[in-house]
Amino acid sequence: MLLKEGYRLGANMRDPFGRAITYLRISVTDRCDLRCVYCMAEEMTFLPKAELLTLEELERVAAAFIRLGVRKIRLTGGEPLVRRNVMSLVNALGSRIGPGGLSELTLTTNGTQLTRYAQDLFAAGVRRINVSLDTLDPVRFAAITRWGKLEKTLEGIFAAKAAGLAIKINTVALKGTNEDEFDRLIAWCGEHGFDLCLIETMPMGEIDQDRTNQYLPLSLVRARLSRTWTLEETDYRTGGPARYVVVKETGRRLGFITPMTHNFCESCNRVRLTCTGTLYMCLGQDDAADLRTPLRASSDDGLLEAAIREAISRKPRGHDFVIDRRRNRPAVARHMSLTGG
Ligand code: SAM
Ligand code: SF4
Repeated sequence: MLLKEGYRLGANMRDPFGRAITYLRISVTDRCDLRCVYCMAEEMTFLPKAELLTLEELERVAAAFIRLGVRKIRLTGGEPLVRRNVMSLVNALGSRIGPGGLSELTLTTNGTQLTRYAQDLFAAGVRRINVSLDTLDPVRFAAITRWGKLEKTLEGIFAAKAAGLAIKINTVALKGTNEDEFDRLIAWCGEHGFDLCLIETMPMGEIDQDRTNQYLPLSLVRARLSRTWTLEETDYRTGGPARYVVVKETGRRLGFITPMTHNFCESCNRVRLTCTGTLYMCLGQDDAADLRTPLRASSDDGLLEAAIREAISRKPRGHDFVIDRRRNRPAVARHMSLTGG
């Protein structure tokens, strides 16, 4: 449920650079039913289940963040919809939508479970979701996700649309893999009423391949697209890192997330919680705060809130992602699936 930003009064947390922290992303699991080549190695070692926060604990941490000024929560992963009973967390957070609470609850998903969950998500108060889809070609889809079937994801996307959820498609731009498909994706999104966001690959976690071979600068893609489409500048922002244009021919938005060619840190309003209760203050830095210990140390939330405030006071100015052949190792060792992108 989207409410006007205007009621955002009260105790916003500010980081050392004056940025109000109003957006929390929660990775509810590091597990996934797919193995996208840019995200994971095929053989992944996942966290032992005993280390995970329970869904009730995740809700308690989220509630503390809401008291401290967070207004938007995105559930992600791994694949958020493969966590057992995830709807109990979605429903609990959904009940916090409203004045003084959340202005938006949303999630990022690979779509495989949406036929099962789309209606429940809408009923819980979710109004828009991001679905990751890198190709419309079934053979390519199987190659990129290693284990996925395009049909299942498409069925999920259309179930979400039928349930009334607004959809943004997230597509990672991969050199030599899907770069010839962006025109088709723009047309397809236009046809079905979806926004589209293209993302540059980020150097996170060891995968089975050389990332320099995957990296495609979006400045190049945008220049190529503007030969086919009329890309109209817009100042539309979601508070996130994407810069948007409107594709005149389809009337839909097209976003570019360009961490590598354009640093988006100056307006960063977010922090990321993992399923073990570790808080990362920046996607591209290793510094983190343990919230599980203060959470479990007392049933009162004083220690937890103090730990959150202390963590925010350490939020760094930004990341320093680099992908080049001389520095052929990830900027951070953890995978995107741990912090949820
Ligand atoms: N499983 C869900 C999904 O795929 O939407 C949510 C988690 S996934 C880690 C979140 C987003 O991160 C996806 O859109 C995915 O394409 C993107 N992603 C994963 N690894 C990435 C990387 N190394 N660079 C850029 N984007 C990445
Ligand atoms: Fe799973 Fe999402 Fe990573 Fe693909 S991008 S492997 S769907 S977590």
